[in-house]
Amino acid sequence: MKTARQIAKEIKEGKTSALAVVQESLNKIKELNPKINAFLEVFEEEALKKAAEIDAKPLDKRGRLAGVPIAIKDNILYKGHKATCASKMLENFVAPYNASVVERLLKEDAIIIGRTNMDEFAMGSSNENSAFGAVKNPHDLTRVPGGSSGGSAAAVASGMVSVALGSDTGGSVRQPASFCGVCGVKPTYGSVSRYGLIAFASSLDQIAPITLDSQDNALILSIISAEDKKDSSYTKPFVLKEEDIKNLTIGMPTDFLAGLNAEILSALNKAKEVLIKQGFKVKDITLPYAKYSSPCYYILAGSEASSNLARFDGLRYGYADKTAKDLEETYLKNRAAFGPEVKRRIMTGTYCLGSAHAQDYYLQAQKVREIIKQDFKRALKEVDIILMPTSPSTAFKIGEKINNILDLYLADLYTVPANMAGLPALTIPFGKDKNNLPIGIQFYGNYFEENKLYGLAKILEQEK
Ligand code: GLN
Repeated sequence: MKTARQIAKEIKEGKTSALAVVQESLNKIKELNPKINAFLEVFEEEALKKAAEIDAKPLDKRGRLAGVPIAIKDNILYKGHKATCASKMLENFVAPYNASVVERLLKEDAIIIGRTNMDEFAMGSSNENSAFGAVKNPHDLTRVPGGSSGGSAAAVASGMVSVALGSDTGGSVRQPASFCGVCGVKPTYGSVSRYGLIAFASSLDQIAPITLDSQDNALILSIISAEDKKDSSYTKPFVLKEEDIKNLTIGMPTDFLAGLNAEILSALNKAKEVLIKQGFKVKDITLPYAKYSSPCYYILAGSEASSNLARFDGLRYGYADKTAKDLEETYLKNRAAFGPEVKRRIMTGTYCLGSAHAQDYYLQAQKVREIIKQDFKRALKEVDIILMPTSPSTAFKIGEKINNILDLYLADLYTVPANMAGLPALTIPFGKDKNNLPIGIQFYGNYFEENKLYGLAKILEQEK
């Protein structure tokens, strides 16, 4: 599979046509999607039409992503197309406008080729929570691709597309990217507009690219990260530039890594050796509060979700049962369209926000979130970058953890802290385990310092 950079370059130079590129992507999807289930819908006719339009443009008028097929997670709005969040609740919902990120991509002549499968309402780490069937990991079809952007990660890893958008609330871009052996980022909170992203937990959600390598990732992020008055949490854009990273100090949080799986630890140590060989300083640091991120996250994300998802009652949005006789029955029947994990989050979130408990849960978790933020602030004064794994394990078997919710919640141990603190974090594949499954390693950086993460990633990618 060619990178987005290669595809756009060839199309801008007239060496290949957008039509040929789109056709190749469609053929790949037809061949592989029945096995992998990464796409919920492919916009075939429209994609071909757009490709022909791009091919008709003079070379110098073609955008930076000319003819690049891009898949979008099913919680991102693309006007006139369904956006279902892989839920029965929104099975027939059609987007009335474009998400700001979609506008940006279209402006650069990218081709939105379809919408990808996900855990329902972005809640999950394995993609088994989709109402439209689990996604399979392209490296081993008996295993999960990770979640919740598992469809997007699997679509890139299997070569159906070279770019897909996901959303990351607690790791949903980075964890599936690591399980599928591709590159994923969680940008600094506030650098990508959330306008047109169906909200899960608004103080944590960010849309982000999943790509074949870190340079493509940086390119796509620089395009989707742009000023947007429609999102009040937007702060400033990511501006792609080559940074001098020679003198960076990298920290490894030894306390947070305690008990880590031996194969993943060994991949991490190998990355450390490469960096030392390249002249970087690597030192041990501690992050004593990072381990509280997961429990804290499940209180805050659940609370925000319970509020955000209140609008799906069949009266304002979503599934409407026509047989209900009164208001109570209307709510009972309509809200039954949610799957079990979404119901669990709404119930725990409502409990944590309730007047009898908010003091002990929601407000307490807010305080812990601040302590976690301070923990990273302190560490990032000592070092420039923090190196850690992306996930405590590689891709697990479908069905292996679905009945062990706590185990599944711990799958985001290393990704959730970035969302809690609002920091950027980037995952790249680095090595394989004994089952030949990809291992992901992750760089955390300071606010708006994504360029440093991409710079380091490029060094490690060359070393593989
Ligand atoms: N796995 C986490 C959850 O289940 C993260 C989800 C996400 O980032 N959207 O909530």
